[in-house]
Amino acid sequence: MQIVKLGGSVVTIKEKPMTADHDNIRRLAEEIKAAWPTPLVVIHGGGSFGHPVAKKYGIAQGFTSERQVIGFTRTHQAMVTLNTIIVDALLDEGIPAISVAPSSFITTNDGRMPGGDFDNVGRIVVKGMLPVLYGDAVIDRIRGFSILSGDQLAVSLAVSMGASRLIFGVDVDGVYTSNPKLSPKAWLIDRLSLENLEGFVEIGKALTTDVTGGMLGKVSEARAAVEAGIEVRLVNATKPGVILKALRGEPVAGTVITR
Ligand code: ADP
Repeated sequence: MQIVKLGGSVVTIKEKPMTADHDNIRRLAEEIKAAWPTPLVVIHGGGSFGHPVAKKYGIAQGFTSERQVIGFTRTHQAMVTLNTIIVDALLDEGIPAISVAPSSFITTNDGRMPGGDFDNVGRIVVKGMLPVLYGDAVIDRIRGFSILSGDQLAVSLAVSMGASRLIFGVDVDGVYTSNPKLSPKAWLIDRLSLENLEGFVEIGKALTTDVTGGMLGKVSEARAAVEAGIEVRLVNATKPGVILKALRGEPVAGTVITR
């Protein structure tokens, strides 16, 4: 079983609110089709759908005011809208894709997922279908509600389901020494050991989140999957053919995180 997390930077146009990147979505559906049938779960991020709404209502900070309740539901609905576009693209390719809503069966504990019961997702895969999940607004036992990132969900799913490989598709070639969009001197780290990962996270924490973007969070989350013996790869899903190659286990530019 493989897990593919498609970043919000890949499936949406981040600068334009509620705008899907239809070209990327269609092409990725074709690539998944080329690898099909294969036991697979797809998870996607929020990009310009979930994030602006969640931010407007402060959902990640938890429940502080009644006026956030409508924001919680609007955040979820924005994700449903994006999810529908992605599931439709897969169905158009003839893949039996099925939407699975994280908020309907996952509760976090102070922003973290305790294990997670993915038995039903497993049964869906065994039946030959492709479950498509997403980062979502979820109920939180401590904070009232929180945002479950697609990255955290992907790792939790991979660990719980005993996946062999976890592929993060992003809009850069992998993990660089620093943000490649800001520093032209940054170079790609093709192998990142857990030990080096610790150093990377420490350096990242010292910088502002603007500088590290989502990469720091992704790499920190990935640790649990690597520790569980799962092959974790970060590749550029905006480049044609890369996700297909990664799914086939063929060599491709990117970062492999190893023990
Ligand atoms: P997604 O939303 O697709 O999951 P994010 O936007 O959260 O992905 O994270 C990917 C982004 O992280 C890249 O577009 C890149 O600009 C940024 N980034 C910051 N630091 C690094 C780094 N050291 N290596 C690679 N990318 C980085």
